[in-house]
Amino acid sequence: MASSEDTPFDQYRADVDRPLVRLFREYGVPRLRWFAAGNVANLVGRSASLLPPLVLGTAIDAIFAGEGTYSLPLVPGSWLPASQSGQFWFSVALILVGFVLTGVGTFLWGVTMNRFAHGVMHAVRTDTFAAMQALDMAFFDDKQTGEVMSVLNNDASNLETFLDDALSEGLRIVVMVLGIAGILVYLNAQLAAVTLVLVPVMGLFTWWFMRRVEPLYKQVRSDVGNLNTRLENALSGVELVKTTGTEDYETGRVRDASSDLYESNMAVLTLSYFYRPGMELLAGLSFAATFLVGGLWLFQGPPFGLTGTLTVGEFVTFVFLTQRFVEPLSQASNIVDWYENAKASGERVFGLMDVPPHVVEADDAVVLADPDGAVEYDDVSFSYDEGERILRDVDFAVEPGETVGLVGPTGAGKSTVVKLLLRLYDVTDGAVRVDGEDVRDVTVSSLRSAIGYVSQDPFLFDGTIAENIRYGRFDASDEAVREAAKAAEAHEFVSNLPEGYDTRVGERGVKLSGGQRQRLAIARVVLQDPAILILDEATSSVDTETEVLIQRSMDAVSLDRTTFVIAHRLSTVRDADTILVLEDGAVVERGTHDELLDVDGVYATFWRVQAGELDSLPDRFVESL
Ligand code: ADP
Repeated sequence: MASSEDTPFDQYRADVDRPLVRLFREYGVPRLRWFAAGNVANLVGRSASLLPPLVLGTAIDAIFAGEGTYSLPLVPGSWLPASQSGQFWFSVALILVGFVLTGVGTFLWGVTMNRFAHGVMHAVRTDTFAAMQALDMAFFDDKQTGEVMSVLNNDASNLETFLDDALSEGLRIVVMVLGIAGILVYLNAQLAAVTLVLVPVMGLFTWWFMRRVEPLYKQVRSDVGNLNTRLENALSGVELVKTTGTEDYETGRVRDASSDLYESNMAVLTLSYFYRPGMELLAGLSFAATFLVGGLWLFQGPPFGLTGTLTVGEFVTFVFLTQRFVEPLSQASNIVDWYENAKASGERVFGLMDVPPHVVEADDAVVLADPDGAVEYDDVSFSYDEGERILRDVDFAVEPGETVGLVGPTGAGKSTVVKLLLRLYDVTDGAVRVDGEDVRDVTVSSLRSAIGYVSQDPFLFDGTIAENIRYGRFDASDEAVREAAKAAEAHEFVSNLPEGYDTRVGERGVKLSGGQRQRLAIARVVLQDPAILILDEATSSVDTETEVLIQRSMDAVSLDRTTFVIAHRLSTVRDADTILVLEDGAVVERGTHDELLDVDGVYATFWRVQAGELDSLPDRFVESL
């Protein structure tokens, strides 16, 4: 049996209460008109389909065999024709009406139910995506893209199948079973008892099957998610896979995940092997018993202590209707399939929707309008996941327009400092303020649009260079895009590309070099024109010429803006107004370049190593690198 890997949603899934009821309440109710129209059409169509066999039996007895009166359930006798030829033509008309109504009902049912179910699916998919987008970085740190993709795609469409097919088929079964049972009881209650005696057994059998199959379906859905996660990982890591020659290893991992899914699917199917034929057998037994008892009744008189008369016409109607009864009941297994599948999917969809964001906008959040860019860290401490303290008592203030350099060994907490300013996470203690406002008191969108961020390894969307520069300022003119590219020292290389600004960059921008992507990201920020800028210097070495270009563009954009530079090459921050040296989450030195050299501490040592004055780092630094 497959084991499911723990996913970050498991806890929320377990808390989802009656997902299909919730689905109906939240998404079905607003589209109730379509749903109601669909059910009425289905009801009319299915009921009308019972008319022909009923009319047939009556016609056989009253017209062809000349026994008994021409009568129909629920119809007063005075409404029916008296002459045999009148009854014959009336029967023909009724049979035609029955078939036409069935056709029209089925058509209208399809149109309305599809609209209902696909409308729900569309809304669920969009809302789930929106809910996921609204989650904070802490969620995405643990994210399993494949898992989220499978919720958005497979699970949403499982819900659609349930609403479309399972509900309609379910209604059809109810109509057919109740309608047919009603007609049979009306015609001959004793023979009807024979036909229907196994229905409760079928109900029990279905209940047993549902109990057994439910946990297996959960496993299937979770194995689908795991497989998607593996596929997504292998695809996005294809460069690593190729360069390490681990294709076989990845194939093996996908094979394992696929084999888990195979096993869990087989477990469901193995149960279905018993259930489906079992139901068909029970329905077949009902048919055989009806034929046996009804047949004996006709040529021997009432068998097995039964009493009363049975006419040929009634017998024909019984046989026809019992046959009609078998087919929808054997569909019960599909409904159970759809239902169990949808229930598992519903838990996954709502489980994702219910993940609570940690970073929540205050109800009375104010808009940070046109900020000057003063930034203050007031005794800030922070830990991810309530774990180890990553930042301790970080305390500094920056005037508008100043440049702050953040330096220190890898893992010291430099990126974490700026993530708190962007409010990707909330501080554990203390406060981060922009223009004197706590970042938790302003709207998230106004805060983030006041801050431009250029990461070490900027992401580009598949699309053209112009589209990528314009991202976030979608109405910028071509001229503005070109000016931004010039400021970012990107214009020249872009102009040299065969299609210039219309060149497509490939998925994630793979067709460009790291230095080129960085300059496009800087151009994007220039267009955004924020009061505060965060530049995370690329660690990967770029050639000297590119470095000069990037440095020049960074200098140009940081002019007149409060700028944080996370520097790996200390030369980058030589001219900064303040340099903060972080070690182990705490600011251990601060000052200008010259002041820090005078202090002759951590910064001075790093500087001498990078300047080539020291061959290697003293031991106390090596450990932290
Ligand atoms: P720097 O930018 O100086 O290299 P970071 O701020 O990235 O350092 O990381 C500081 C510490 O926080 C490291 O020990 C790192 O392992 C930890 N850390 C960073 N990001 C996360 C995260 N999303 N979840 C948990 N721990 C993290």
